[in-house]
Amino acid sequence: MINVPFHKPSIGPEEINEVVDTLKNGWLTTGPKAKLLEKEFACYLAHQYAVAVNSCTAALHLALEAIGLQAGECVLVPSMTFAATAEVVRYFNARPILVDCRSEDFNLDVADAERRILSALSHGEQIRAIIPVHYAGQIGDVAGVAALAKRYDLRIIEDAAHCCPAFYRLDNSAVWQTVGTGADISCYSFYANKAITTGEGGMACTHKSEYAERMRVMSLHGISKDAWKRFTSEGSWYYEITAPGFKYNLTDIAASIGLHQLRKSDDLHRKRTYLANRYAELLGDVDELVLPVAQPNRNHSWHLYVIRLKLDRLLLDRAAVIEELKRAGIGVSVHWLPLHMHPYYRNAYGYEPADLPRSAQLYPEIISLPIFPDMNDAEVEHVCNQLRRIISGHLKISPKLSGKLLIHKPSKIIKTGNGELKL
Ligand SMILES: *Cc1c(COP(=O)(O)O)cnc(C)c1O
Repeated sequence: MINVPFHKPSIGPEEINEVVDTLKNGWLTTGPKAKLLEKEFACYLAHQYAVAVNSCTAALHLALEAIGLQAGECVLVPSMTFAATAEVVRYFNARPILVDCRSEDFNLDVADAERRILSALSHGEQIRAIIPVHYAGQIGDVAGVAALAKRYDLRIIEDAAHCCPAFYRLDNSAVWQTVGTGADISCYSFYANKAITTGEGGMACTHKSEYAERMRVMSLHGISKDAWKRFTSEGSWYYEITAPGFKYNLTDIAASIGLHQLRKSDDLHRKRTYLANRYAELLGDVDELVLPVAQPNRNHSWHLYVIRLKLDRLLLDRAAVIEELKRAGIGVSVHWLPLHMHPYYRNAYGYEPADLPRSAQLYPEIISLPIFPDMNDAEVEHVCNQLRRIISGHLKISPKLSGKLLIHKPSKIIKTGNGELKL
């Protein structure tokens, strides 16, 4: 039987040889390779400055510190995201205001964000920033977020953990722009399953020198200028602590992997795009699924391929589908249980699932299928065949009779597309 893991990083001899070179040359922590990675990454995504750190979570934390987030202030965060996006707000004793998503791309719903801003302002809250997440690697409503930020004087920190690379344009005639162009600071992840990896790692990018300088200093103990050089011949033994910083620097061992991952990034992206297109071809006629689509004027990273189950047409739920896929040797995942449904945010802020109805409704329907650059044709076909088999074996209503005939459990009232059907 074919086993298809949910993810497998694409590591070749280039990465391995570079790590060996680093181990042999003896400079293991932050050094010339981390600096080179910053330079090449900034160039690749057309950003002025890039600060290499040991995770995207660290990058998000440094970004909020650089914009001067204060205790008691609020930051808008989508509910459809990973733990990191909101926890960094809590590091400051500030409050994440969770925002619902839109159904076409699961990205932050700007109209909902504005409703929540107005409600917070009416309670006398201070709102400092918004952290849009580009779900699965597809850039969201940048124009809407920019307008909102302008209207309410918010800083924009993009959680671009899924984007390497990703592009957008404002309309058909506009020029293509890279992820993070409109942000004050954009943050990237090099975690093991992300678009490019260093095992653990991340990058904070910005066009503003004062943010870059502050993040650089705070990423290494708040030590004045180029602290990493203090052990080299050109560095000075003398340094000063200018603020109580953090220990977030990226090692040269990790950067060795990153340099080659970055140089392969276009190729890795091309392969993920191919796989997304294969999924669309092989599953496009399954009426019980909603497939992800690249929105107009977006170039998708395809970090994730998230399908939705039409549960009203199926006799099994998402957990059962995942269990069946697992039995067929297929690794899948769920991105994510919305933050407002996790115990911490429910308890701390009193959220109920229905407070963010779209995220809550999407959650039971979503499954992330395997998508990684080295996945081959047989593997993607196996996933699609198994999924089709599982679905066709558990249909509520025969697709041939367009929802009018019951196959299982007769003598019941069934809801169909045309109303209720008594059998
Ligand atoms: C993975 C991820 C992060 C955190 O990245 P790390 O590098 O593991 O800290 C943040 N936000 C989102 C949306 C992610 O998927």
